[in-house]
Amino acid sequence: MLPTLDETLLDAVRRRGREVTIPAHWCLVVEQQPADEAYVLLSGRVDVRHRGRVLAELGPGDLVGEVGLVDRRLRTATVTTLEPVSALAIPAGDFARLRHDHPQFDAWVRDVTTDRLRDPAGGTVDTVVLDVDGTLVDSLYQHVEAWAAAFDGIGVVVPRWRIHRAIGMGGDRLVGAVAGEETELAHGDAVRAAHDEGFAALEHTVRALPGAADLVAALSDRDVRVVLASSGQDEQTERLMRLVGGVDRLDAWSTGSEELDTKPAPDLVEAAVRRAGGTRAVVVGDAVWDFVAARQRGDHGIGLLTGGFGADELLEAGAEQVYRDPADLLAHLDETAVDGLSAR
Ligand SMILES: [Mg+2]
Repeated sequence: MLPTLDETLLDAVRRRGREVTIPAHWCLVVEQQPADEAYVLLSGRVDVRHRGRVLAELGPGDLVGEVGLVDRRLRTATVTTLEPVSALAIPAGDFARLRHDHPQFDAWVRDVTTDRLRDPAGGTVDTVVLDVDGTLVDSLYQHVEAWAAAFDGIGVVVPRWRIHRAIGMGGDRLVGAVAGEETELAHGDAVRAAHDEGFAALEHTVRALPGAADLVAALSDRDVRVVLASSGQDEQTERLMRLVGGVDRLDAWSTGSEELDTKPAPDLVEAAVRRAGGTRAVVVGDAVWDFVAARQRGDHGIGLLTGGFGADELLEAGAEQVYRDPADLLAHLDETAVDGLSAR
């Protein structure tokens, strides 16, 4: 049931929601369909069925359809109105925003989802996938600078803000994305080589982000696999991880050097999770590309502000929570999908 919400929160829920009226015997939510909205029931009753079996009957003040949004996967149940119903429909982006802005709302959603059905294959997270650049190490601006110089070298001017916003996707995609396919075809490999060289020259200025090593250690102390999925090159990623420390605590990794589709494709994440013998993951990243990749696998996402993307963009892309940096995430680990995974 809707807890006693303070007026500010109630107002926020009303502002983000759209009041809808649904006739009796309609399906509000259909099992195995994509989840785009959650509903707070205002009046009338509904029943919740999984494979035809009634699991619950819900009424005014209850939250409906949140599991698909929280878990980022297809609907796990069908919700049918038993009588005319009015409800506040909250779109996925607004739902994520409410959770981020209002801890009371977030706590309520987590209470409700813990109690409800999760399909047996989907349930618990067994793997944490860490991005490296911008997530564990403060290397974003060095990458921007190295790419800008590389483009300069072939006489192509790309404003740095455009490069910044493409960082996090694989280098194989970045050149075309910011400078056009013609530049990619004519100079792609040369630009990538110049970037790698330029970045290597700036690498001595890269530092681990606050709490990065402690986060890796704390995660590996839990009953969960810890892997890396980095769009960066193999050796570069290895050097950066040496800055962080805790390489020996990782269960597996994948990098942009492999013959795999890079982020925002899910292949790097998929490879790292599979190598560690995991199935269901939470992806920790700093760029929207990390969450586009995570969402395609139905994984959870945790965003960090350390890559310069805004919280709203990370939430929109699929992050469920956003924290300032690794230290802030570490302090709030029990608010995330990693919650409840016991110490090893
Ligand atoms: Mg990154």
